[in-house]
Amino acid sequence: MYDVVIVGGGPAGCAAGLYAARAGLRTLVLTGGEPGGQLGIAETVENYPGAGARGGPELAADMRRDAEQAGAEFRNERAAEVCLRERQVKTGQGAYRSGTLIYAAGASPRALGIPGEEALRGRGVSWCAACDGAFFKGKDVAVVGGGSSAVSEALTLSRLCRRVYLLHRRDTLRAERRLTEQLESAGNITFLRNVQTEAILGAKAVTGIAYRELPEGPQRELPCAGVFIAAGRKPNTELLRGQIALDAGGYLPADETTRTAVSGVFAAGDVRTKAVRQVVTAAADGAVAALMAARFLEE
Ligand code: NAP
Repeated sequence: MYDVVIVGGGPAGCAAGLYAARAGLRTLVLTGGEPGGQLGIAETVENYPGAGARGGPELAADMRRDAEQAGAEFRNERAAEVCLRERQVKTGQGAYRSGTLIYAAGASPRALGIPGEEALRGRGVSWCAACDGAFFKGKDVAVVGGGSSAVSEALTLSRLCRRVYLLHRRDTLRAERRLTEQLESAGNITFLRNVQTEAILGAKAVTGIAYRELPEGPQRELPCAGVFIAAGRKPNTELLRGQIALDAGGYLPADETTRTAVSGVFAAGDVRTKAVRQVVTAAADGAVAALMAARFLEE
């Protein structure tokens, strides 16, 4: 029995763990299989105040260390079942009950749902340039997407690969200007705009990508050794379905107090309905959720 169980070990979960432990709560953080959440696979973070330019995994490890030093218990276990009303979480290893629950399970990269994507996952199809880019050194690769992640992935790959094709279904990118300004100076990134990616090609490994110029151009094939998908993220709320109303995007509604519609349950980080999803806003949510959980237990 804990005072607070935190589902998620990214910036929101670590900050919640730090604040909860410092508030004297018996605190358990269940990190899931990916230490540090999305931060754990970020090549560099340059916008976390006071941290300078840091490697994502390094910053994530420091966040966990601080929470552990404050007294939070961490277990590298993935929640398999969550009962919000009972405030109970089951993993493959055990079942945990708690006075309060902070749901900080984050978001995961979205798939395109096109032929070849699933079959060639790990055989040329990747969602993480920082993790897998080195496999494609000196080769040609494609990145699909048009947001900050897509541009950031293309820039990372441009430092390793011979040529990077960035395929986006619109005319303009929706990435931060600071990033798009670097696209041209990279010198080896080709931006293919208004194209629909239709299939990833290859039998045992990726050999290319098939796309169509919108609205009704002919299908074309582009040879490449790797395809990096950066089509946004989906919230990790599958475990909550049927227990609480989610918003249209599947995110967990809670205002800036992080209180959800279920008493004693709080939502923190990228999984929460909110306007801005950044490392700093996730960490801020974690702090708020922990202090709200402490207040709930007092009341
Ligand atoms: P995002 O902003 O939601 O962009 C997703 C992109 O994928 C959009 O361009 C979207 O196209 C495209 N897309 C979605 N589904 C697709 C499909 N089926 N086929 C083809 N394209 C598809 O997601 P994000 O880039 O991952 O960014 C998420 C958040 O993290 C943002 O707030 C961003 O600012 C932040 N971020 C910041 C940095 C940084 O360096 N500061 C780096 C990465 C991410 P449409 O435009 O047509 O919808």
